[in-house]
Amino acid sequence: MSVHDVIVIGAGLAGLRCATDLAAAGHDVVVLEARDRVGGRVWSHTFSDGQVAERGAEFIDGTHTAVLALAGELGLALTTRSNDIDAQGTLVDAGGRPVPMHLHASVLADLERWDSAVRSLDPTDSDGERRTLADLMHELAMPVMSRLVVGREIRTEYMLPPDEVSQRFAAVVAGNQVPSERERHRVVGGNDRLARGLADRLGERVRLNTAVASVDAATGEVRLVAGEVLRARHIVAAVPLPVLSRLWSAMPLELGALGYGVGGKISVQFQRRLWRDYGRSGTVLSDRQWGHLWETTDDQAGDRGVLTNLIASHDGAAFAALPEAPDVVVREVERIFPGARGLAGERVHTDWTNDPYSLGCYVCAGPGQWTAARAALHRPYDRLWIAGEHADEFTGFMEGALRSGARVAAALGATQ
Ligand SMILES: Cc1cc2nc3c(=O)[nH]c(=O)nc-3n(C[C@H](O)[C@H](O)[C@H](O)COP(=O)(O)OP(=O)(O)OC[C@H]3O[C@@H](n4cnc5c(N)ncnc54)[C@H](O)[C@@H]3O)c2cc1C
Repeated sequence: MSVHDVIVIGAGLAGLRCATDLAAAGHDVVVLEARDRVGGRVWSHTFSDGQVAERGAEFIDGTHTAVLALAGELGLALTTRSNDIDAQGTLVDAGGRPVPMHLHASVLADLERWDSAVRSLDPTDSDGERRTLADLMHELAMPVMSRLVVGREIRTEYMLPPDEVSQRFAAVVAGNQVPSERERHRVVGGNDRLARGLADRLGERVRLNTAVASVDAATGEVRLVAGEVLRARHIVAAVPLPVLSRLWSAMPLELGALGYGVGGKISVQFQRRLWRDYGRSGTVLSDRQWGHLWETTDDQAGDRGVLTNLIASHDGAAFAALPEAPDVVVREVERIFPGARGLAGERVHTDWTNDPYSLGCYVCAGPGQWTAARAALHRPYDRLWIAGEHADEFTGFMEGALRSGARVAAALGATQ
C-alpha cells in the first residue's frame, strides 16, 4: 500500500485550501470527496437565463480577507451591494399581516440596541459561556415586534434559536464583524467558482465520488465506503463535525456535543421582480416557519428575479425537509405580493440537515460548549488534524473554512 504524505477528506473550501497549499509546497496530497462535485456547502445554481442563486454560502463580508484574496488569486469578479436595512422596503410579517418595518416605530432603534449589546459582549467573560442570547433579549425588555425581528435575525445568523446560542460564542462571532462591511459581495457567476478554481489547480489529486467510511488517527488509515484502504502520514479531516463523528469513533466528546445550526434554502425565480411594483425590496421577516426571504438577484441583471428563503432553526429544518416546501413558499409569496404565483418559475430546494455529507448548516455553540471545543478543535490527534469552518474564529463562514485549511497546511509544513 502506498503511503501519501497527506490525505485530505472533503473538497469543501477548507480541504481544497489546505490541499492547494500543501501541493504548492511539494507534498504528495490526495483529496477524497464523497460527492460528484467540489465545494460542499458552497453550491451555486444557475437558472436558464444565467441568473444565479446560492444553495449554501451566499454573502462575503468586506472583512473576509481570505475569501477576497482567493477571488483575486483566481481572477473572479465580485458584486458590491449595500448592506443597509431598508426599513420601507423590508416587510415584517407577523400574525399573517405583512407591514413595512418602518411602521413598527421602535424596531429599528431596538435593532441598534441589540447590535450594540451584542458588540459589547466580552468573549473572555466566563459568565458568557453559560448565558444565552435569549437571556440578553430578556434583559433588553424589547416589545413583541422587536423580539420577533431580533429573534429572526438570530436564527438567520446561527440557524438555531436564541436560547441555544451562548453569549461567549456570539461575542466571538461579533468580534470578527464590522457592521458596515457585512454581506457586501457575491462572486459573479456563483460562489462555487472559488472551490472549482482551487480544484482545477489540484487536478487529479481530487477524487470525486469517493466517500470515506472511517479513519484511524493512530495508524493514518482511511477506509473508503467502496472498501479500499488508503494510508497517509497525516490525515486532514475537513468535513462537518456531525459527519466526522460518524467516521472517527474516537472523536472527543466536547466536539460531538458542539451545537450545529440546522435548516435549508429555497430559491424561486419569478418572471419579473413583482415585489418592486409594491415598492418593496423582497426582504420579509416572518413569524412563520419559513422565516426569512430576500432577493438574491439584487446585484444581478435581467428582467427576472430570484427570491431566496433561508429556512432556519428546528422548525425551519422540519419545513425544509418537506418535498412540498417550495410550493408553500410560492403560496406565501403570493399572500404577501399578490400576483406572484403566476410569475413563479424554477424552484431550487436544499435541505442541509438531511444531507448525509453535511448533516447541518454550521457550528453554533450553546452554553458551556465553546471554550472546551475550541481547544479540542485546534490540536492534532496523532496523525489526524481538523479543518473546516468549525475550526476557526470566523466560524459559519467561507472565511473560516479557508483560514482553517491554510492554518492546518502551515502546521504541516506548507510554505504559503
Ligand atoms: C444555508 C447556509 C448558508 C450559508 N451562508 C453563508 C454566507 O452567506 N456566507 C458565508 O461565508 N458562509 C455561509 N455559509 C457557511 C459556509 O457555507 C461554510 O462555512 C463553508 O462552506 C464550510 O466549508 P468547509 O470546507 O468547512 O465544509 P464543507 O463545505 O461542508 O466541505 C466538506 C466536504 O466534505 C465532503 N464530505 C462529507 N463527508 C464525506 C465523506 N464521508 N467522505 C468524503 N468526503 C466527505 C462534503 O461532500 C464536502 O464537500 C452558509 C452555509 C449554509 C449551509
